Amino acid sequence: MKIKCWKKGECILRNHYNVVFVGSGPNALGALFYLKKHIGNKIKDGTITVTTIDKDPYPAGGLMNDGKEMLTPFIGFDDYSSGRVSLDEAWEHIRFWEDVIVRHGKDAQGREPPISGVDEIEIRKWQNRLSPHGLELITETRQRHIGTDRSRGLIDNMRRELQESGIEFRLKETVQEITRREGGGFTINTLTEHDQYTFTCDYLVLGPGRVATPWFKDQLRKLEIVYRQLPIEVGFRVEMRYEDYPVAHNIRAPMIKIRAPNGDPVKTFCTNPNGRIRLDMPSQAIYYNGRELRMVNGDGVRSERGQTPNINFAVLTKVDLTNPPGDNQQFAIRLAGEVFHSGDWKPVAQRLGKFLENRRSKPSDFYGNQRVQPTLSRGSFTPGDLTFNYPGRVCNNILYLLRKLAEEMPMVMHQDVILTGPEIKFQNITVDPVDRYLQSPVPGLYLGGNGPGYSSGIVGAASNGILIAKGLIERLG
Ligand SMILES: Cc1cc2nc3c(=O)[nH]c(=O)nc-3n(C[C@H](O)[C@H](O)[C@H](O)COP(=O)(O)OP(=O)(O)OC[C@H]3O[C@@H](n4cnc5c(N)ncnc54)[C@H](O)[C@@H]3O)c2cc1C
Repeated sequence: MKIKCWKKGECILRNHYNVVFVGSGPNALGALFYLKKHIGNKIKDGTITVTTIDKDPYPAGGLMNDGKEMLTPFIGFDDYSSGRVSLDEAWEHIRFWEDVIVRHGKDAQGREPPISGVDEIEIRKWQNRLSPHGLELITETRQRHIGTDRSRGLIDNMRRELQESGIEFRLKETVQEITRREGGGFTINTLTEHDQYTFTCDYLVLGPGRVATPWFKDQLRKLEIVYRQLPIEVGFRVEMRYEDYPVAHNIRAPMIKIRAPNGDPVKTFCTNPNGRIRLDMPSQAIYYNGRELRMVNGDGVRSERGQTPNINFAVLTKVDLTNPPGDNQQFAIRLAGEVFHSGDWKPVAQRLGKFLENRRSKPSDFYGNQRVQPTLSRGSFTPGDLTFNYPGRVCNNILYLLRKLAEEMPMVMHQDVILTGPEIKFQNITVDPVDRYLQSPVPGLYLGGNGPGYSSGIVGAASNGILIAKGLIERLG
């Protein structure tokens, strides 16, 4: 039997694999490169069979975006913060992933993805300027920037190397159901546009990302794996002039945190200098009353063409419904649904001046000679009133952070600054792994990446994958 595979026409469809990866995002890619390095000869000669399945036609999960590779164990790196790996091992994972990124992410002139966030004098300067206002600047900010304009090239290069070493990519194929086999291993049922498939494997790695949470929860329930929910992060995207946000001029993607007076954590996140606001990809959409909703996000490009005079960053606060316990994900979906509803099923944008006055923004607020011009194209958002749909506590927390930032950078509170919503980070469940290699309570089933809440960015997800690969090598080696 044959099935469509990435850029190779067709590949052999097996009835059994040693290892199956569900999802081809950074979690899987980190694992696959590590497997290739350590047991690549056995994969190449077919002694060990490995396949990666993704429901998207051009997948790589969230790597297919701006690609700020935060090369630090202190941001979104649960393997280190949870104690699964030591600081030394965390750096080993980061160096391994950085090497992969650098080898495959060069531009047409052979230049590596640029490094930033390493100027210690500048970082200390901003730490000293922000801390008197109660703001904590995360000082470990070393990063490389791929850029949305380069991510496809990076992914092509990565996948080509993996495929040439015998690792399959089965694309446009959705894993529908997973069942345990008596005596060990798993049966996997998948669906493509035209066919259904059933095959088995010894080891299964689930890295379905955040947006597949409803499917993921369903599989966990069927496999009788207990999960618990995590807080979600809710907020807006702030857009202003690049020159007005000097903390990012050298650090590029500073992450700044504070506790609001009520104790809630609030932070800036995912900063894109000279970038644009964009919506999540359709594959990352959520559904509300049958409608596809794509959350607000931001990105930047690496080449000069396509850069904007703006900067954008997320401001997010945590929501955790604990007493009585509530479903954080459902709360966020309803909130997003109401914002889109009020925006005629488009994201809603509001000038900060109007937000402070609890008055809606009108189209004329966006298409004049205001200081900040929106990067979302005309017609792709609705000028409106975010205060109408967001809980007061979320608005207050976010305003608290913006006002504190403005004590040092006054233009943050300029009336023309644009807030666009909804921006929501849907990471919301986790499973307590039984071993340090992220094996779940079901033997042979490994969970990694943002889906099971073991990371919240690309590099942390790749580290999860590397750890899983180490566990697999012990079994397969
Ligand atoms: C617009 C945007 C910009 C971002 N920018 C950055 C950034 O600059 N820096 C950063 O560190 N992080 C960024 N992120 C977050 C980052 O993309 C994620 O942290 C990372 O991709 C998570 O990796 P993962 O492997 O856990 O899951 P994902 O990358 O989400 O991959 C999961 C994959 O699983 C597939 N899948 C799910 N369910 C099934 C199924 N049932 N059958 C088959 N396939 C399935 C999906 O199609 C997907 O390809 C960004 C995210 C977005 C949306």
